[in-house]
Amino acid sequence: MKLITILVPAYNEEEVVGQFYKQVSQVLENIPFYNFELLFINDGSKDNTLNIIKKYAEEDSRISYINLSRNYGKEIAMSAGFDYAKGDAVVIMDADLQHPPEIIPEMIRWWEKGFDDVYAKRIKRKGEPWLKKLTSKMYYKLLQKTTNIPILPDAGDFRLLDCRCVNAIKQLRESQRYTKGMYSWVGFNKKEIEYEAAPRAAGETKWNYSRLIELALEGITSFTTFPLRLSSILGFSISILSFIYLVFIIIKTLVYGADTSGYPSMMVIILFLGGIQLISLGIIGEYLGRIFIETKNRPLYFIDEYGSMKVEQKENEYDKRTL
Ligand code: UDP
Ligand code: MG
Repeated sequence: MKLITILVPAYNEEEVVGQFYKQVSQVLENIPFYNFELLFINDGSKDNTLNIIKKYAEEDSRISYINLSRNYGKEIAMSAGFDYAKGDAVVIMDADLQHPPEIIPEMIRWWEKGFDDVYAKRIKRKGEPWLKKLTSKMYYKLLQKTTNIPILPDAGDFRLLDCRCVNAIKQLRESQRYTKGMYSWVGFNKKEIEYEAAPRAAGETKWNYSRLIELALEGITSFTTFPLRLSSILGFSISILSFIYLVFIIIKTLVYGADTSGYPSMMVIILFLGGIQLISLGIIGEYLGRIFIETKNRPLYFIDEYGSMKVEQKENEYDKRTL
C-alpha cells in the first residue's frame, strides 16, 4: 500500500489542533487502500500545541511530529516537513481548518492519474478584509509581470506533491524561502482543483502586515532580478533626457545669454534624482542582504525532538504471496 504524508505546520494552534486532528482522521478513515502518516511540525509554539500533538501520538500510531528548536516561520517549518516526510506523496495543510480535508480524496485520484502536483485553488475568500484582497491582487500582478515562471495568486500551500516534487524542492536549500514560487520552479505535471476557503476555525492568524510585506519582498527578490534592471533602465532614460536638456541649455545660453533664473527647476531635478538614487541603493541593498544571508550557508533549522510514526509498513499483497 502506498503511504501518504499529511504535512501540518503548526504555530500556537492549541485551540484548533484537536479539532483538526479529529476532522482529518475522519476523512482518512474513509479512504481505503492507503496508509497515512500525519506529520505535525511544531514551529516553536509558545502554547500547549506540542503536548496536545504528543498526546494524540500516543494513541495514534500514524502520527509523527517534529519539534523545531524555535519559531522559524511557516516556510522553514514546511521544509523541515519535506525532509522528514516518509510518504510516496505529501499533502500540505494548514492546522486551522481553512483547508478542507474533504478534498484530499480528489487530490489522490488525480495523483493516481499521473499528476505530480495537485494544487487546490481557493475560489472564495470568506472573512478576509478588502484591503488584504486588493493588495494581494496587485502584488501578484506585479510579480507575474516580472518573473517568467507562473506564480498563481489563489493557489497556496494546500496541495498534494508526488515524492518526485518533494525530492526536487528538498534540494533547494535557500534559507530565504518563497515556497509558492518553488512549486512552479521545479515544474512536473500540475493539476488544478478548486476549493472554498473557510474562515479560520479558532485561534488567530499569525500573519500581520509586516510579515506579509516580508514574504512579498521574498517573492520578488528570490524569483526575479527585474528591480535591479529597473534602476539601470531608469538611469539610462534619465541620462538620455538630461543630455537632450543639456544641448538645449547650451544653445539657449549661446542665443539669449545666461540669466540666474531656474532655481525651482534645478531643485526639482536634484530632489528627483536624489530620490531615484536612494531607491536604487535600497534595491541593491535588498539583494545584497539576501546574498549575505545565503553565503553564511547555515542549516535551515534545528530540531529539538522528533517522534516518528510507529506503524510498521505493511507488506504489499505481492510480498505476502511470495512468502
Ligand atoms: N505557521 C507556522 N509558523 C509560523 C506561522 C504560521 O507554522 O510562524 C502555520 C500556522 O500554524 C498555520 C499555517 O502556518 O498552520 C498558516 O498560518 P495562518 O493560518 O496564521 O495564516 P493565514 O491562513 O492567516 O494566512
Ligand atoms: Mg490560516
